Amino acid sequence: MEFTIKSREREEIINLTEEIEKIVGENADENSQACLVYVPHATCAIIVNENYDKAVCEDILTYLKKQIPEGIWKHDCIDNNADAHIKASIIGPGQIVPIEKERLQLGRWQNIALAEFDGPRKRKIIIKIL
Ligand code: ZN
Repeated sequence: MEFTIKSREREEIINLTEEIEKIVGENADENSQACLVYVPHATCAIIVNENYDKAVCEDILTYLKKQIPEGIWKHDCIDNNADAHIKASIIGPGQIVPIEKERLQLGRWQNIALAEFDGPRKRKIIIKIL
């Protein structure tokens, strides 16, 4: 299964939990063990973290921005988004969340989200129920 979303900012964290829970609810069965969430892109990533307090998302983006500044890398000569590639590589393109009784086993404060580092762009989210 897959769906697409459109990011609006260069950097932002977009909560995908509701959409993924819906897909899991419709497609998981008693044998389902886990859900893989994957983005086939080089400048965004998937995170599992808190979305309730928006400051957490802002802090994550601020931390990465401080550690990995824009415009100082070799690849910036080609398309000026090397920082986005580095951030996406560090976090990774996917997450696996356990499934129990056809439901995602997310903690009380966990959400699944897209971390956009080079938007605005259209992003494909691939979901595999394992
Ligand atoms: Zn690039």
